[in-house]
Amino acid sequence: MRRLFLSSVILFTLLGARADEGMWIPMLLKYNEAEMRQMGFHLTAEDVYSVNHNSMKDAIMLFGGGCTGELISPDGLVLTNHHCGYSRIQQHSTLEHNYLHNGFWAKNHDEELPNPGLEVTFLVRMEDVTQAVLEGTNDKMQDEEKLRIISQNIEKIKAEAIKGTHYEAVIKPFFYGNQYFLFVNETFTDVRLVGAPPENIGKFGGDTDNWMWPRHTGDFSLFRIYTDKNGNPAPYSKDNIPMKSKKYFTISTKGVNEDDFTLVFGYPGSTQQFLLSDAVDIVANVQNPVAIQARTIRLNAMKYWMDQSLETRLMYSAKANSISNGWKKWQGESKGINECNVLEKKQLEEMDFDRWVNEDKNRAEKYGQLLSEMKRLYKGYRDNIQIYIYNQETFFGVEMLSFIYSKVVPVIEAAKLMPTNPKEFELARVKLAASAKSFFKNYNANIDNECFVNLLSYYFSTQNPEFIPDELKKYINISDVSLIKINDNMYEKSPYFTNPEAFINFIETASAKDFVKLEKNEVVKMIVTIANQSDKNISELRPKASKLNSYYKTYVKALMEKEKDKTFYPDANLTMRVTNGNVKGFEPKDGVEYVYYTTLDGIIEKENPDIFDYKVDPKLKELYEKKDYGRYANAKGEMPVAFIASNHTTGGNSGSPVINADGELIGVNFDRVWEGTMSDINYDVNRCRNISLDIRYFLFIVDKFAGAQNILSELTIK
Ligand code: ASP
Repeated sequence: MRRLFLSSVILFTLLGARADEGMWIPMLLKYNEAEMRQMGFHLTAEDVYSVNHNSMKDAIMLFGGGCTGELISPDGLVLTNHHCGYSRIQQHSTLEHNYLHNGFWAKNHDEELPNPGLEVTFLVRMEDVTQAVLEGTNDKMQDEEKLRIISQNIEKIKAEAIKGTHYEAVIKPFFYGNQYFLFVNETFTDVRLVGAPPENIGKFGGDTDNWMWPRHTGDFSLFRIYTDKNGNPAPYSKDNIPMKSKKYFTISTKGVNEDDFTLVFGYPGSTQQFLLSDAVDIVANVQNPVAIQARTIRLNAMKYWMDQSLETRLMYSAKANSISNGWKKWQGESKGINECNVLEKKQLEEMDFDRWVNEDKNRAEKYGQLLSEMKRLYKGYRDNIQIYIYNQETFFGVEMLSFIYSKVVPVIEAAKLMPTNPKEFELARVKLAASAKSFFKNYNANIDNECFVNLLSYYFSTQNPEFIPDELKKYINISDVSLIKINDNMYEKSPYFTNPEAFINFIETASAKDFVKLEKNEVVKMIVTIANQSDKNISELRPKASKLNSYYKTYVKALMEKEKDKTFYPDANLTMRVTNGNVKGFEPKDGVEYVYYTTLDGIIEKENPDIFDYKVDPKLKELYEKKDYGRYANAKGEMPVAFIASNHTTGGNSGSPVINADGELIGVNFDRVWEGTMSDINYDVNRCRNISLDIRYFLFIVDKFAGAQNILSELTIK
């Protein structure tokens, strides 16, 4: 029985690609070849993924755990997005050497800047290990028993796969555990910064334009991988040498035309195409609205104070970016879900599923209760999510509250054990002192204070009172005036919480007794109460999520039985995928048509010296005025900047190479259009577009703007 069912799953995966939608497993691409050819691709599946000879996959890496990067020179030069390298560029920036603001271009290898903690991972090979993972399990087993056997099997297979090598092995479930793949990886840890344009190019348009089309962001940065003398991964050392790339991309300056074939190859993070309507409802009506509202409050506070000083801007740029990325995306996602009636569509699919189930006695026996059980579970799950999202986005959105809970409370706990355990207390204090120093390095009390007041006000005035812990009920419905009092009494006058120097001094000098006293502080009590509620909530949420997961496994398997002719692709799970598409504009709303590419003209159109996001670099303007585009202009004499296509991508695909029909690099994927961010749940070819940097703009900036001939001379340009 198991065998039969497994082979049917594999068969569905192998059937081949449908245009546009889908994130395909590179190892199985040979089954997509015909369709890809139809879409315009000239190469073979072997050229894309092969274990026998060097193929495109050897030029692609998971960059920094959440982005994609690609090799573009024989000497380990990596191209990724500016926003993927952003926090590294920021770390190297000071007011004196402000690389974020002015850009950075290493003139030789010696000037390249090391980045401790930054890793890149290459895929050595992958393998379908479903049978070996499920060995010894059967359908009658309890979930726990099954999971125990599965995890034992997984450990065994992994150990076997990397025996005698320096590789790492990962096994991941696909289709909710209907299928498993092994990935053997090689990770490099000496990765140095080589180049980055100034922020007014690399982040042009900023958060205002993020997730939007038309787009004019020069979203790229350059790094280099270093190895030991034998070409193996090694921690940073002066003696390390630039990596000898097994494979790197040739760059094409031919450019793109409407309908051209595009292939995006990278590490998409997470999609949820099979969600039931109940889950979509939770996303659109609980999760997204609360997170959006809370983040609006935080971003407003940050923006105000960042506009006041360059120093604050430096401290908070990366924080604001990461908060606003989700904030904007969820707005587009909710809009897409509403406008495309995704909820209703899913409900109809579920009705159709139930109808199919009840048509047959066997099926009714197997799947008759499935959807109603899932829907029952979702009712309680919805409340858990509401508690989770409110706590996370409001209380834990206040930096100081997060810091108190994660760093100060453990010291209080250690202090309570005094005098029996003085060593532990001293150790905890030293650890806290170190974290406090790095915490306050990028901390602005004005911003955090404002967040405290406004986030708590939002929480107490909108969270369902039933979900507010009893100890905090006294704050419900507080007026603005009493909120200010909360602020004055609880926060500003709470010792140290808004005064970094005093706080550090306290940490260094306070006795255990002083720390114990802190436990009575209103602010500390408040965050501990919330954290306890969060822990309890998570302990309820987890088993429900895992039960739902096992129901989804059955649901997806049943869907595959139901739609035998449909090609299924697995949800993204931060494993390497290929997505196919064509360069294409779209109509975001009635009467509006978006053209598929943008140019430097648009940057000049957007220029506004009063708005940080729209300041244009004087040197760039000069090049524009002289039309000094070199060989990078398009046939009309314009300087192309970005283009859109119908590749199905998601977070993690940032930095992915965009490859033309001949396997040459024509762009770097960096975003999606706002109208189509619902593609993580519901891809729609009429409105979902990925946004890519045109490789010619990258070349133009490196060559004409930065004059970085040393970098240019490493590239193979066609
Ligand atoms: N901007 C996304 C990222 O940072 C890419 C996307 O979601 O399309 O990975």
